[in-house]
Amino acid sequence: MSDHDERIMRFLYALRSRGVTDARVLMAMERIDRGAFVRGLFAERAYEDMPLPIACGQTISQPSVVGLMTQALQLSPRDKVLEIGTGSGYQAAILSLLARRVYTVDRHRRLVREAVELFNTLGLANITALTADGSFGLPEQAPFDRIIVTAAAEDPPGPLLNQLRVGGIMVVPVGQSDTVQSLIKVTKTEDGLDYEELRPVRFVPLLEGLGQE
Ligand code: SAH
Repeated sequence: MSDHDERIMRFLYALRSRGVTDARVLMAMERIDRGAFVRGLFAERAYEDMPLPIACGQTISQPSVVGLMTQALQLSPRDKVLEIGTGSGYQAAILSLLARRVYTVDRHRRLVREAVELFNTLGLANITALTADGSFGLPEQAPFDRIIVTAAAEDPPGPLLNQLRVGGIMVVPVGQSDTVQSLIKVTKTEDGLDYEELRPVRFVPLLEGLGQE
């Protein structure tokens, strides 16, 4: 077995042992090379289960958290998905293998530009990445079957809840920044919203407005 294969095997084993058991999610995480989304010094640690720094002072999430959030979305190949917080583009790339269409937005245009380059290089043609304040969602493309927020909000943003289809699922870390937040799964039903608390997490905060670069 090559070093590369062995690294992937250990990566998948770590994901499984942390609760990522959905076969389709694991297949997507096997196919998308996290190393491509981590630049410079930290690239060699891409297959460790830890968050890593990316440009604009942001972070690429811990792979097991990416896996658990993706799993919680219960994606079908017909789904139109909205991601708030493109960051490196890694989460969006995973989503793109499991859904029909992925819209992803970030408040930093540099991150969006770099992510778009990667999506093109990797031939991921069903992702649209945009620079915007994602707290307001993407009204022109709503409603969405699934919404994933990869920055922590104090409450699930109202516009995002409004842009979720009935029967849809939203996953969002909720809590004050710099403390432990809770990963929440919101399901929209005919009668309203069901909330399920999944696990403690720690994300960078959802900020207002656009970033400097
Ligand atoms: N999903 C990313 C990691 C996201 S880190 C990945 O796979 O790499 C959180 C991201 O949320 C950061 O890039 C930050 O710029 C972005 N962000 C924070 N507040 C935002 C907002 N209001 N609208 C859009 N993006 C936001």
